[in-house]
Amino acid sequence: MVKKQKGQTSVLIYPDWCKGCGICAAFCPAKVIEIKDGKACVIRENECVNCGFCELHCPDFAIVVRPKESGEGQTWEPGGPSAAAVRDPRGARS
Ligand code: SF4
Ligand code: SF4
Repeated sequence: MVKKQKGQTSVLIYPDWCKGCGICAAFCPAKVIEIKDGKACVIRENECVNCGFCELHCPDFAIVVRPKESGEGQTWEPGGPSAAAVRDPRGARS
């Protein structure tokens, strides 16, 4: 079971994909995300409890929540193979 510890995750938002609907901010129990200038913004990343609600409910797949440790020394490009896996966790092929 995933521990709900604060400060263990990075919350990435891709502004090009975000339409500013506010669903992520509404679902976030820790008020990590706010809508500013029509886009979702991470304002309190250290308060993130890694519940995954934002990522799960974003209709545009514009949010990725991942452990901070996993990003070190790696590149992660929107639209790359990793992103495709995140966008379609069921593994469906196009
Ligand atoms: S749910 Fe997705 S599209 Fe809507 S504001 Fe949040 S990041 Fe943007
Ligand atoms: S994973 Fe949960 S606590 Fe963290 S930003 Fe998303 S909704 Fe908020």
